[in-house]
Amino acid sequence: MIATDIPVFNSVIRTIGAILLIPSALAVIGAVLTVAVLILDPRPEFGIGHWLSVAAGFVGAVIVALVASLISWLLLMRRDVYWCRRCGFLLSRA
Ligand SMILES: [Zn+2]
Repeated sequence: MIATDIPVFNSVIRTIGAILLIPSALAVIGAVLTVAVLILDPRPEFGIGHWLSVAAGFVGAVIVALVASLISWLLLMRRDVYWCRRCGFLLSRA
């Protein structure tokens, strides 16, 4: 028996989990770019409506990033097991 870890879910579900990393990464990039633009090119002449929509977009991006990465993390989760090389027997080591 050797101590190792195996994926909790099958390859289809893990593929979905990996694909969910894409919107998560894009949302993080979008949020970072929003902040970068605000710092590099502040536009005080723009009205409050402009800044409210920027803030809404930023908050939305952060929420998408959090939710997508949480689901992705759950789907890609691995569990610790003892694995027998000879017969493939798995024993959970929680
Ligand atoms: Zn065995």
